[in-house]
Amino acid sequence: MARLCDICGQREATLFDRAIMNNVTVTYAYCEPCRNSLMRRGINPRVEADRIRLFNARECMFCGTTAETFEDTFLFGCPNCYTSMRGFALSIVERVQGANRHVGKLGIPFSLQNRGINSRIEFKDLPSFAAGDYIKRIFGNSLQSNARFKSADECSEDELTSACVISSRIRLARNLQGLNFPRNMGEYSHNLEDEILGAVQAANGVFDARVRRIRELDKSQKKALIERHIISLNLANNENLGAVIVDGGNTGFSVMINEEDHFREQCVMDGFDLRTAYKRLYVYDTNLMKHLPIAYDQQLGFLTACPTNVGTGMRASVMLFLPALRREGAIEDALAQFKKRYGLTIRGVFGEGSESQNDVYQISNSITLGIDEWTTIKQVEEAVRKMCYLERVALERLVIEQGNKLLNDITRSFNFLMQAEKLDYNEFSSEISNLKLGVILGSLPLNMKTSQIDKLELLCSPASIEIAIKNRREDPSRLRAEIVRAVLTEGRC
Ligand SMILES: [Zn+2]
Ligand SMILES: [Zn+2]
Repeated sequence: MARLCDICGQREATLFDRAIMNNVTVTYAYCEPCRNSLMRRGINPRVEADRIRLFNARECMFCGTTAETFEDTFLFGCPNCYTSMRGFALSIVERVQGANRHVGKLGIPFSLQNRGINSRIEFKDLPSFAAGDYIKRIFGNSLQSNARFKSADECSEDELTSACVISSRIRLARNLQGLNFPRNMGEYSHNLEDEILGAVQAANGVFDARVRRIRELDKSQKKALIERHIISLNLANNENLGAVIVDGGNTGFSVMINEEDHFREQCVMDGFDLRTAYKRLYVYDTNLMKHLPIAYDQQLGFLTACPTNVGTGMRASVMLFLPALRREGAIEDALAQFKKRYGLTIRGVFGEGSESQNDVYQISNSITLGIDEWTTIKQVEEAVRKMCYLERVALERLVIEQGNKLLNDITRSFNFLMQAEKLDYNEFSSEISNLKLGVILGSLPLNMKTSQIDKLELLCSPASIEIAIKNRREDPSRLRAEIVRAVLTEGRC
């Protein structure tokens, strides 16, 4: 069969050109019109033929991932997949992102001087997740009294958000140039130590980095890290290659190593504060780029295993307590509204689209290409404010329509928690949402802030209790009941 022209792919080739590359003879084939036209424009036909071949390739020549295997997992195999099957990668990215050009933070050239290959990682203890001085930690030094219940329109923006927002998180996905993505890495990688070392060194002067390989963590440590959203279940299961950097100073930083991407940097702030979280993470991220060669493409921005993260690689998310909207069954409506308007996602916190735990939901951006970091943050903020307003309106309605029943439920939950001898996690969990609602409504004899209830929740989580009773023969349910009682007694007014 006659060979077609490498350039147009339509006319029969009549001109052939042989080149030897890596001891292999490569034959280029052109039709006359194509070759003449390229020569006239001063373009080397070989270069153009190579470019076209890469553009049309359906297999990565670096990691072997093909268009077909991509469709199975929806993950690319290495950062070079984006170049060596350019046309395919671009079509996928455009499909999921609705954009094809990165406009956010720029990658910076990796400078060799910053590499610290000879230095070693210093191992320090992980921060404790135990409930030791729990009451002090919950209350700090001051208590603030709750004002009477205000309607949505009487509330300041701050009052609206502080009743709903639990925490704000920025996450950045980054990968190393020339290294297969974690899912495609195999059993062993000689780059792993450098990878971990670079991520730890980037924290110098930013936060107190404590690193652990996943296989060095015991079961309850893993559980505690999952409950605090520091690591994912996926990472917890990656005993071979996974590692985590925890912030010894408790300032909200963490880094997951070899989860879906080589690095998932995070910064979490209490309350509604995406901006501080991003500003702080920005510094760490810039350091990381000075220590390690981070995969970056001029057009597509930061390259990630999943094309849904390409561009900024950023996820800005806010955790919200939305008991009234959930009771009204209005979460789905809000979801549709925000999706349409901004491409934002809202979901229950532990479940995948399922019922959320303790009425906690997460709002986050879902587009990362064609939009810069600050615009993304502003959009998420706007959606959060809107959501907090809607929640307050729903709460007003709930108070007017079912006031007595609601107040009875809240009082019953409070009494139950105050009097229980033992509390297993499910019992605790089903009452805590009512308790928090009582604090928001100011209907309980408590002088507590909602953030203090959030901290109580964390202290009573299965892993926290497990760690607290380690090596002691104590009943977890009894300890949980004691903690709850002590905190609520302290908070009484
Ligand atoms: Zn041609
Ligand atoms: Zn590849």
